[in-house]
Amino acid sequence: MRSVVVADLSVATSSGVGADVAPAPGPVRAVLPGTVDVAIVGAGCSGLAAAVRLAEAEAAADVDAGVDAARTPSVLVLEGRSTPDPRSWCAWDDGSDPLAEARSASWDRWDVRTDRGTSTGSDPAHPYVLVRAADRRSAADRRISAGRRDTGGTVHIVDGAAVSAIVRTDDGCVVTSRLGTVRARQVLDARGPRCPDHVGAGRVLLHQRFVGQWVTADRPVFDTSTVTLMDFTGQDSAGPVRFVYVLPVSPTEALVESTLFTQDAADPFDHEAHVAGYVGRRWGLGPDEWRVVDEERGCIPMTDAPAQPDVRWSAAAAVVGTTRPSSGYGFARSNRHSAVVAQHLAAGTAVPPFVDGWRTRFLDAVFLRFLRDRPEQAAEAFRRLFALPGPLVVRFLSERSGPIDELRIVLALQKRPFLAALVRTVRDTVVRTRSRS
Ligand SMILES: Cc1cc2nc3c(=O)[nH]c(=O)nc-3n(C[C@H](O)[C@H](O)[C@H](O)COP(=O)(O)OP(=O)(O)OC[C@H]3O[C@@H](n4cnc5c(N)ncnc54)[C@H](O)[C@@H]3O)c2cc1C
Repeated sequence: MRSVVVADLSVATSSGVGADVAPAPGPVRAVLPGTVDVAIVGAGCSGLAAAVRLAEAEAAADVDAGVDAARTPSVLVLEGRSTPDPRSWCAWDDGSDPLAEARSASWDRWDVRTDRGTSTGSDPAHPYVLVRAADRRSAADRRISAGRRDTGGTVHIVDGAAVSAIVRTDDGCVVTSRLGTVRARQVLDARGPRCPDHVGAGRVLLHQRFVGQWVTADRPVFDTSTVTLMDFTGQDSAGPVRFVYVLPVSPTEALVESTLFTQDAADPFDHEAHVAGYVGRRWGLGPDEWRVVDEERGCIPMTDAPAQPDVRWSAAAAVVGTTRPSSGYGFARSNRHSAVVAQHLAAGTAVPPFVDGWRTRFLDAVFLRFLRDRPEQAAEAFRRLFALPGPLVVRFLSERSGPIDELRIVLALQKRPFLAALVRTVRDTVVRTRSRS
């Protein structure tokens, strides 16, 4: 017996239309189940990772029928989008992605370019991999429907089901979506990171704003051997940190992304012009020799403030996505956390929030103050960081570094501005502690 299964997700289509004369596919409306064990709001990085891990727990439970009832919650993923997600993610492969088959490119080499020189790095054991969101979703659909076919799995994903409210009840929650209402024993908020408008005194908030354009060139100009993580060359060093990121997927195709770390909630920066100027400068392409075929844009919060849960949802839903405060990278850590999330959901226990270790919190707090207070020195700091051995840098960025690694990194960076940032961090901590007492 499965725990609770009312997952009739057959789609309601036009009645009476035979396959031979069926109209072109149009919008279909899913029929939501009345009750599920777990509702996941959002089929992005962490929502899909948790759903697939739960589907795999089901398959494992089927093998070991003795634990079936305890391990096979019925799961409904409610995704607001009804069109494919144009985004992509990159991360150093640490084996944490439960949908690794969706990756479409990988690189063993990366560089950081500045006016004072270029640092290159490599870590063959942990390549930098690209995952396009639409490919990942297809992979998840395949795995989940194979699970339903082979083991009678109970995980379903519904698109176009934007959730507007979650209300706690005595025995769980009521989730209201555009497609109807569902009762769930547990709810995950996997809606992704949101940039807060402000943070409390003694905290830092930088908005990482970016526009990434998938560019096609008429002639082969992109060097597919190397990802450019950050190119600061030719940037005006006054003002906030800004750089260009390049993912070359073929000699004629690349993602070229303009990125800005800013304290301003608004983004007046002309990212499109930044990309266009860069494409002309770096590869010598004239305006008629390349075009933009797709675009993604976003804002990732970089902050040492604790995650600010949505007050309307926080009593009812556990937040599962997470991004690293000092870098905005979130793909690998959200995937890692999804394993913990799935274990708790399968066991029916409360899902704990993701919490960084104290060393990561402290180092990130110092680095954020450095970026905010000394943006003109950021390029040099990243050049020095990436001049260190690739495996060391990747351990640090993937949150697998030890104290010796971190000491080597600290010693490689500029002394004065980082010392000032450290003093500022301690001062801010004292101010916050006093204001609480
Ligand atoms: C454009 C972009 C690119 C990024 N690139 C990288 C990268 O290359 N590497 C990296 O490590 N990190 C990257 N990040 C950081 C990123 O935040 C995390 O990697 C990761 O996406 C976080 O996962 P998540 O599941 O919390 O959120 P998301 O992956 O953003 O998923 C949220 C999902 O919830 C859906 N949703 C939102 N509101 C509702 C609602 N009310 N009802 C139902 N569904 C809803 C959204 O449509 C979306 O599908 C990127 C972020 C953005 C915005």
